[in-house]
Amino acid sequence: MKQEINALNMEELELALIELNEKKFRAKQIFKWLHEKMVTNFGDMSNLSKSLIDKLDENFYITSMNVLERLESKDQTIKYLFQLHDHHIIETVLMKYKHGYSICISSQVGCRMGCNFCASTIDGLERNLTSGEMLAQIYTIQREKDIKIRNVVVMGSGEPLENLDHLLRFIELINIPEGQNIGQRNITVSTCGLAEQIRKLAKANLQITLAVSLHAPYDDIRQSMMPINRKYSIQTLFDACDYYTQSTNRRITYEYALIRGVNDTDACANELARLLKHRLSHINLIPVNDVIEREYEKSSEVRIQAFAGQLEKKGINVTIRRELGSDINAACGQLRKSYQDKEK
Ligand code: SF4
Repeated sequence: MKQEINALNMEELELALIELNEKKFRAKQIFKWLHEKMVTNFGDMSNLSKSLIDKLDENFYITSMNVLERLESKDQTIKYLFQLHDHHIIETVLMKYKHGYSICISSQVGCRMGCNFCASTIDGLERNLTSGEMLAQIYTIQREKDIKIRNVVVMGSGEPLENLDHLLRFIELINIPEGQNIGQRNITVSTCGLAEQIRKLAKANLQITLAVSLHAPYDDIRQSMMPINRKYSIQTLFDACDYYTQSTNRRITYEYALIRGVNDTDACANELARLLKHRLSHINLIPVNDVIEREYEKSSEVRIQAFAGQLEKKGINVTIRRELGSDINAACGQLRKSYQDKEK
């Protein structure tokens, strides 16, 4: 069976070349073709011999994906729908900020976490993405638009920490100077709160930003929104987060999607402030997009400002996420879901 060559790190590539009776230094050349120039055909590697190209073709493949749809919003956010080699569909979002391009990539096809406000989970999990497939989302868009992406957010479809091995390999590869050289501090990984996996990630001691989807300060409300809270209560989650902060010395971002009448009350703001008060943290309030399949509505602008104000008054570091792409179904899983419904 052919191996995914763009999931190999330099040492593995060197070993693979030695096994093919080739010189070790070729690994660096091939790595650059794959991760700097982002080619999708061995035939394009113009400084390699024909015989080496044939050997690579016989033993490996380069992950690539087809663009099925692209939707551009008024604010220049572009949502891509990609088709994978096995016909599964994933979403990726490109966002333009003053400081450059950011990309929000998917880590799984679908998701099994069941968060109530999310369209990605409605049809469950299909499979994990490989590290090559995570990279290919970035490379395909960079090639197509001839741009350099500066920030990566692993916050599209899927729970990244359920796919930890591929995620760690992805971070290793995107960080390598011979490739894209994207610094760990420019990478954010989200989780719905898999406490055990947060502890495992802490052991990797990375400089990435961990973004924890909190969304409610009380177990009963959080449980009604996020089934994972049945397995890991807020207390268990915070214990793991504290361990993460102690191990990495990195500030955690807590994501909080404001939903009208559910988690946007004064009592929620006060309890949230109490939970975060002495933690190295930052809270990101998200005006959630309406999900047709769910009954959630986003909080009013006045309510969002009041909620943020209450947190600030108690000394909590808070931002309100700029709403990007709301005219193109940019929230997690919405475009994929509407595409699949159309195809049924
Ligand atoms: S919010 Fe994230 S973890 Fe929750 S169901 Fe959606 S994709 Fe999965």
